[in-house]
Amino acid sequence: EDELSPYAAPAERDLETSLRPSDLSEFVGQHRVREQLELVLHGAMRRGNAPDHVLLSGPPGLGKTSLAMIIAKELNSQIRITSGPALERAGDLAAMLSNLVEGDVLFIDEIHRMARPAEEMLYLAMEDFRVDVVVGKGPGATSIPLDIAPFTLVGATTRSGALTGPLRDRFGFTAHMEFYSAEDLDRIVKRSAKILGVDLHDDGAIEIAGRSRGTPRIANRLLRRVRDFAEVRADGRVTEEVAKQALEVYDVDHLGLDRLDRAVLNALVRSFHGGPVGVSTLAVAVGEEPTTVEEVCEPYLVRAGMLARTPRGRVATPAAWHHLGLEPPAGDQL
Ligand code: ADP
Repeated sequence: EDELSPYAAPAERDLETSLRPSDLSEFVGQHRVREQLELVLHGAMRRGNAPDHVLLSGPPGLGKTSLAMIIAKELNSQIRITSGPALERAGDLAAMLSNLVEGDVLFIDEIHRMARPAEEMLYLAMEDFRVDVVVGKGPGATSIPLDIAPFTLVGATTRSGALTGPLRDRFGFTAHMEFYSAEDLDRIVKRSAKILGVDLHDDGAIEIAGRSRGTPRIANRLLRRVRDFAEVRADGRVTEEVAKQALEVYDVDHLGLDRLDRAVLNALVRSFHGGPVGVSTLAVAVGEEPTTVEEVCEPYLVRAGMLARTPRGRVATPAAWHHLGLEPPAGDQL
């Protein structure tokens, strides 16, 4: 797995835990989402019931898991954590649901990857706080309805479009997480530097923040890589110059694009003449999973104005050609 990919490797997860904002006051940015969420939570608390189910949608590393934990904390509740891929059989979910205590928050990460039978069980649980447990097999099988404790489901997804309609409809509130501004990322790396004991200078922070693809997880990871460089090749201080040199070593360019981002742009521009090309063809060309290209690379390339998703496929914008040092063809596709 690529060190700088937004999907964290296990060892990186431990470090992330120490950098995780533990309440809303430490959670930087996302003002709209925060305001909306506060209303949902406080409204329910005033009425003394469990809040509506919440769906958090957005690219990896933007703080969905952190926010789910903060929601539980705000509600003074326990959080139970699982993920779509872990819920392969309906029985896995039934076990989780029947162990819930009233008011618990159940967090399901990558909820769009849940297997169908589990998903159907979840509908009833979300709506009526009930599960139907099937006992036995074949014609003798019976289904026993079981009451479960009222809970709040917090689902996270990198692809809200991949959710089935019935599942999406059962969430009372969907928060669309946005990429972070450079100012927000600047605050995040400074906070992380303090926790990790890194001597981060203002201009070094700006340099790292500006190359973090709008993503806190990447900002924190770049900070750790730049710290390594600063300690091994310099005197430990993270200045603008040190950050620049370090990020060059790690193949992160001035816009924050990494090797995979540039590979996608290169394939699109050089092999497919700027497109349109289908995402799976593009993924094969760069030797990656289509989901990685679609959920990790593309959202930021779109936001950076270099790639457009059209009904006929992916298209490179003139900015993409320029970023690769090429002239876009005359008579643009866009
Ligand atoms: P996701 O679940 O969306 O992939 P996470 O919640 O795991 O993202 O966030 C990854 C890391 O990024 C966290 O451990 C935390 O250090 C940092 N982070 C994310 N959002 C914020 C934020 N709003 N403020 C400060 N740090 C953040």
